[in-house]
Order: sequence, then C-alpha cells, then structure tokens
Amino acid sequence: MLGGGFHTLRAGLAAILAAAALCGLAGRASAAEGGARAAVPVAVSARLEQTERSARLTFVISRPVHPVVTPLERPDRIVLDLPEVNFQVKDAAPPARNGLVSSFRQGLFAPGKSRIVIDLRRPALVASVTNTTLPDGLSTAFTIELAGTDRDTYVKAARAAAAPASEPLAAAPARDPQAAAKPLVVIDPGHGGVDPGAMAEGGVNEKDIVFSFAQKLKARLEATGRYRVMMTRESDVFVSLGERVRIARRAQADLFVSIHADTLSASPKVRGMTVYTGSERATDVESQELADKENKADALAGAESPETMEEVSGILADLTRRETRLFSQHIAKQVVQDAGSAMRLNKNPHRSAGFRVLTAPDVASILIELGYLSSNEDIALLQSDAWRDKATGAIASAISRYFAQRTAVVRGAAVSP
Ligand SMILES: [Zn+2]
Repeated sequence: MLGGGFHTLRAGLAAILAAAALCGLAGRASAAEGGARAAVPVAVSARLEQTERSARLTFVISRPVHPVVTPLERPDRIVLDLPEVNFQVKDAAPPARNGLVSSFRQGLFAPGKSRIVIDLRRPALVASVTNTTLPDGLSTAFTIELAGTDRDTYVKAARAAAAPASEPLAAAPARDPQAAAKPLVVIDPGHGGVDPGAMAEGGVNEKDIVFSFAQKLKARLEATGRYRVMMTRESDVFVSLGERVRIARRAQADLFVSIHADTLSASPKVRGMTVYTGSERATDVESQELADKENKADALAGAESPETMEEVSGILADLTRRETRLFSQHIAKQVVQDAGSAMRLNKNPHRSAGFRVLTAPDVASILIELGYLSSNEDIALLQSDAWRDKATGAIASAISRYFAQRTAVVRGAAVSP
C-alpha cells in the first residue's frame, strides 16, 4: 500500500518550473532594485499514503527543506515548522476514514514561517524526514514517514517536547471528555463593584451596561444548546484582571469574550462597536489609550498590589501562544463580519492593543467595546433592547461560525495548528 508512484510526483514538475520561473523574474526585479533575496521554495503537490500502522506524506518541492518536528497532545497532532514555503497544493485530500492520519494541512503560519500539521487518529511519531532528488534532477520529494506507536510513548514524546514550558501549560489536566463535547465560552463583563468603569452623563455606568449585556449574551448562547457558558462575575462585584484570566484558564475555556463600553476622553466623536485582540504593540493611539486605562482598573479599584501576570516561556508555550493569537484573530474577524451586517461598527472595527485581560496564552480571547459612553448616540443604543438583541444575535452567530470552522480542516493562506 505504501508503494511509490512517482508519476504523480513528476506531474508536479511543470508546475514547479512555472512557479520557479515567476520567482526568478521577481528575484531579478528585486535584485535590480538592490536587494537580492533567496526565492521561497515552492511545493506543488501533496500525497498521503497510509495503513493502520504507518503513513507517508510526500510533498514535491523545488528544493530541500528541514522542519522542526513537534508532537502535540489534545488533540494528537504532529506539527512541522519550516521556513516559508509557497504551497501551491490545490485539492484537499478528503479526510481519511482509516489509517494513522485523519487529515493534514499546510500553509503560512507567520511571516517567513510555514507549517504542516498532521492530525492523528492513533498515536504515531515521525520515523524519518527525507529530501530525495527526483529523477528530473530539479525537484525534491520531501517525505515525512510516520510510524504508529503506543499511547505511553506518544505522551512521553509530547511531554518531552513540552518540557521547556513551565507548569501552568504543561500540567493542565486532561479535559473531561463529557464536558469537552461542548465548547466552553467564558463571558467577562468588564469592571464591577468598586470599579464602575466609564461613567457617562446621566449616571450611566459601564459596569451595569456591560453586565446586563453579558447576561443577555449568555442566555442567547445557552439557548442554542451548543455551548457551556460561564461568567467571570455573576453580580456587581470587583474581579481583578489577573483573576479574570485565571478563571478562563482554570476552566479550560475555549473562548474568552470580554465586554466593555468605555469613554475615549480625547475623542468624543469615536463611536460604534470595536473588537480588540491582544498584542504587545497597539494598532493606534486610541487603542493604546484604552488599553492603558483598562489596565489601571485594578489599581483604581484599590487592589492591594498590581499582580504580575504569569509569564510562561519555552518553545511549546510560544507555539501555543502563537496558535492562540491566530484563533483570537479569527474570532475577532468573524464578529466584525457578522456584527457589521447588523449594526454600525467603528470605522476601524478590528484593532489590537496590550490589554491585560487578553493575555491568556492558551485561550482565544477578544474584547468587545460595544460602543463608547463618550458618544451620546452610543449611550442611547446601548440601552435599547432592539440594539441589544441585534448585537447579541450577531456575536452568537459569529461564535457559532468560529467553532464550526475551528473544527473543520483549515486550508488556505494561514494554517491553524
Ligand atoms: Zn471598560
């Protein structure tokens, strides 16, 4: 069953040559501008052959590549990190029904970095990775051989790969399989208790607006029967930013949605819903200002000392953090898309900044500013039932599309681990 079949490999050669010709032209153009850059290798075909005990995944590629291989658990998958590869691999093989491998995907993971992810049906480890020059002398068969193994060996290998990570990630308990069937969404109504959040004229407090919105969103999500939903506060009580993150991590949340409605003192004209993702560098000055203000919530509320967030380092932690960031970007885009067709959004509806509440390394997290209490139009909307119905509906639909796509095989420009 694992027998060769180089005719399909050779069929890829014409495509490689065509792609290489394009790269060559581009290379000459940029060299003429003063910067000669090595062309990115091009992969033109992918082929999976497998049995119940072994599997072989072969890419025809324009030159040899050397991956860093990492086995991961929950779900079991093998990640191969590569320098950037231009994957011109078109047709997705349908998910396999039998064999070691259930599916695989490949694509750009970060600027300059590509990744292949092999989803496993049974425990298996990489037995060899080879680059073999094909008979044409111009292209390479990049082959990953997997061999089935037992559960213990796999777990040991995955834990060894994870070893540099410190306790919080490595020691996360296994998910309860019953509970894991339904994704857990943690809704985080901002502020509370001694911390009122933004205060608008007429006595409207951010903490009350976001709490009632969060309750409506919770009811809406629960009504679908598809999620478990948890709130970081169930009443008008102060919860520190660090504790909000810990609540989500301890519960092994699949998604964390923080709800706010702030003021932007310097920008009374700013209005409309905005979705934020976490990042070290803010996309713009307003986002920076907002994150700074939010991050002071603990100090303003008189919390004893500002907590230092748990810093987790190591290769696996970095990997996890990067994949989490991609998932966060994905849900943010989904909310912008679904909310955008239902209501008015901010003119730059997806932004990012260093919000402390968005720092869980292993939980996809977004912060939604429903609107701005510095805008009178927004204050009116945020208190209207019609608007709240529309907004919770749009967010719930974005969440359901996010989870539907997250479980499907992701293909295209970006690859999710
Ligand atoms: Zn706020």
